[in-house]
Amino acid sequence: MSLIVQKFGGTSMGSIDKIKHVASKVIEEKRKNNDVVVVVSAMSGETNRLLELALDIGGNHYKRETDMIISTGEQVSAGLLSIALNNEGYRAVPLLAHQIKIKTDGSYGKARIFSIDAENIKQEINSGRIVVVAGFQGVDESGYITTLGRGGSDTTAVALSAALNADRCDIYTDVDGIYSADPSIVPEARRLDVVYFDEMIEMSSLGAKVLQIRSVEFAMKYNINLYVKSTFVDGPGTQIKYLPEGGKMEALQVSSVACDKDEAKISIRGIPDKPGIAARIFSAISDDGIIVDMIIQNISVEELTDLTFTVSKKDLKRALKLTESVAKELNASEVISDEKIAKISLIGAGMRNHYGTASKMFGILAKENINIMMISTSEIKISCVIDSKYAELATRILHEAFNLSLNNGGNGFK
Ligand code: ADP
Ligand code: ASP
Ligand code: MG
Repeated sequence: MSLIVQKFGGTSMGSIDKIKHVASKVIEEKRKNNDVVVVVSAMSGETNRLLELALDIGGNHYKRETDMIISTGEQVSAGLLSIALNNEGYRAVPLLAHQIKIKTDGSYGKARIFSIDAENIKQEINSGRIVVVAGFQGVDESGYITTLGRGGSDTTAVALSAALNADRCDIYTDVDGIYSADPSIVPEARRLDVVYFDEMIEMSSLGAKVLQIRSVEFAMKYNINLYVKSTFVDGPGTQIKYLPEGGKMEALQVSSVACDKDEAKISIRGIPDKPGIAARIFSAISDDGIIVDMIIQNISVEELTDLTFTVSKKDLKRALKLTESVAKELNASEVISDEKIAKISLIGAGMRNHYGTASKMFGILAKENINIMMISTSEIKISCVIDSKYAELATRILHEAFNLSLNNGGNGFK
């Protein structure tokens, strides 16, 4: 007998019929004589609807109240799935974050889990019940409801797998695994049998929302036996795991292309090029809890320079206000912003052992006359910021040029 954690996303829970189908997937696992803990997301579109309600009444600065509102979608889902399971003759119990003490910090809207008390769940499992947990939510030290950031039910599932020492964590969604690019942009994209943890971290942070980045970080830390599978089609899915010792040579040079349209760019022109300036600008921004992603500084001309950086689109207004006020103090000539950008990235554990990937990428973009505004690299990824109108085109041509649709075995070790 194994303990399996299953997570079903919004599209999988999107209607009563779909929830009945999810119940059948849970029962299938239970019938294999396994203990099952299920984590559910809100029905598709529900979190957005709730968020809009909160904003409509003026909730912009009421993060705690907003979390209380937007966490309810998952509560409804947990109740509905429990009813569906009970109606099929299986004993199920729905549980909320406060009942299993999913303790988080108090950063509403993007809270981090620091502990889970798995005792309640274990008791329910021991009495033969299927446990259905509302994903996405936690409780802070004062007992207020928090939420874990968009896509946070993935993190609930992986964190529970760690707390329960589960044998496997299956993330069920509307695609049958992790692909070499978002299949909604590149129809030729190929399902990968295996993706390595460090590749998945990059993919998640570079726009592939199929797994929330924190869920991958958790899975990596606790070495969770993690799979992404389809709710609707049977198949092996994709395993996310550690690159085996000595396996570097066999990892693909480039295994996927990611596209992120959620960032915006801010430039400050004509700032004095002297020590301490960057620190002033970026501490003002980070003190407000805003994360800066890419940064470039131009070569100075007559002791004046330009600085450009990217932030998440949702933080743009606040970041712009802060930048403008620092720019004024520094006597900078102007601050401009651009929301019409996209970050296109190539990812692959094998990049560590290859050279020439970046120059090939730049050449392919140049051939299509796509201008590169910013570049950043790590050992296993290269990202370019381009005009958002070329986002899909760039994703497709890079996917093709790096032969990613070919069935070349993916990251082997099958
Ligand atoms: P859920 O509602 O199940 O949590 P999400 O919408 O969060 O599902 O994630 C699944 C979606 O992620 C897919 O429909 C797909 O469009 C998108 N996606 C982006 N990049 C990839 C990728 N490389 N592989 C698979 N799916 C991807
Ligand atoms: N319902 C939440 C969201 O839409 C959490 C999740 O689906 O994982 O972001
Ligand atoms: Mg998701």
